[in-house]
Amino acid sequence: MWTNWARTASCTPARVVHPASTDEIAAAVVSGGRVRARGSGHSFNDIAVAPEVALDLDRWTGIVRADTESGLVTVRSGTPLHVLNTDLHRLGLAMPNLGDIDAQTVAGAVSTSTHGTGAKLGVLATAIAELELVLADGSVVTCSRSERSDLFNAARVGLGALGIISTITLQCVPSFVLQASEAPGRLDAVLEQFDDLCAVEDHVEFHWFTHSDRVILKRNNRIPEPAKPLSRARQLWEYEVMENAAFGAVCKVAKTFPRYTRRLNELCGSLISERSYSDYSHNVFVTPRRVRFVETEFSLPRETLMDVIAELRAVAGKLGDRDALIVPCEVRVAQADDIWLSTASGRDTAYISMHQALGMQYKAFFDAYASIAASVGGRPHWGKMHDLTATELRPLYPHFDDFLRVRDEVDPDRTFTNAYLDRVLG
Ligand SMILES: Cc1cc2nc3c(=O)[nH]c(=O)nc-3n(C[C@H](O)[C@H](O)[C@H](O)COP(=O)(O)OP(=O)(O)OC[C@H]3O[C@@H](n4cnc5c(N)ncnc54)[C@H](O)[C@@H]3O)c2cc1C
Repeated sequence: MWTNWARTASCTPARVVHPASTDEIAAAVVSGGRVRARGSGHSFNDIAVAPEVALDLDRWTGIVRADTESGLVTVRSGTPLHVLNTDLHRLGLAMPNLGDIDAQTVAGAVSTSTHGTGAKLGVLATAIAELELVLADGSVVTCSRSERSDLFNAARVGLGALGIISTITLQCVPSFVLQASEAPGRLDAVLEQFDDLCAVEDHVEFHWFTHSDRVILKRNNRIPEPAKPLSRARQLWEYEVMENAAFGAVCKVAKTFPRYTRRLNELCGSLISERSYSDYSHNVFVTPRRVRFVETEFSLPRETLMDVIAELRAVAGKLGDRDALIVPCEVRVAQADDIWLSTASGRDTAYISMHQALGMQYKAFFDAYASIAASVGGRPHWGKMHDLTATELRPLYPHFDDFLRVRDEVDPDRTFTNAYLDRVLG
């Protein structure tokens, strides 16, 4: 039985195939039955569920070719991001931006519009220069801005609905060092300067302990080498002990005694200390996440961020103790792009993600957030928890019907569908 990381989706496929070549992917696709590719199961909803044929791409990994001059790197779709990052670094290259973790596969990450933060940077899929796909009839096609551009616009964030991505060519950048600066702060003060920070910092985000006004502000900026990373002992202390072991213990207390969750928000926020170091980008962007949680996230028009936070603040004050969140919300930004189902498609975006420790109540706050987000045209992250259907999603994406048209062309019999896609695409 397959289960996702958050233990919110599971299935027992009729058949699991581990292809090791494009031919083997194509053979599995035409072998009969509905087919889904699996990434590393880090989506919080049932998008990766494969009830019939599951393609596990764990034997389809690694870099195929790399041009260190142009930065164009072709990678097999099942490559985990942590492997990709290390291999790129050896070549003197890096991804332009990354999210919070590196456990996802490269195809899984781009397919749901995974993003990091940076007002002048797009979601991960904006780094794609070319895709090779196996379509429902077993044919292998490539697409790019100049070749089958409609398929390219659809498949960069394709939800696994259009075909199996076999390779991805990424436009990488020379490897770079980031100066990381993390500091405790107060919500009002951070909100007041947030637009200015977005304009001047390469990457800015904050984590808000929702039942208090405590935040952690994180800023990462490109600086010349050399890097001055945290010592191994400090890394162990900060990431393993404080952010994982100690925070895991806090979550256990909140789960057992929900009436303390609000006070624990305040306590956690007050215990944050400043942290400043520099390291290669992939070591700064990602951190280990060992405390499991559930998550929802909406992409919001950038200009609505302050209003949405004001409404969330009001909700946080009204909810009962049992509905309080122990994990802080995360606020990030991304630049508008031209990918049809990217959550930043056509608009500069702010993201607010909301999390709750596994086993604790989350529905009241998540539902309240979903209706606030709906009132400003919020788009749900394709890989996180949400209840929206095609009816609500169509008006949020100017190219929704273009995506469906391409889907009809390349997968008329819905070889690649599952219950989640039936819901969100109709
Ligand atoms: C702890 C944690 C932290 C996270 N942090 C972030 C973050 O910072 N930013 C963010 O935006 N998201 C984040 N996410 C969400 C995560 O990045 C996405 O859900 C991502 O899609 C998961 O990738 P995966 O490899 O696990 O893919 P899966 O969840 O296994 O699959 C996702 C989709 O990709 C499709 N797919 C996989 N491989 C292929 C292929 N070869 N061809 C076609 N389709 C394919 C699957 O069919 C499915 O539709 C986080 C998730 C977790 C659990």
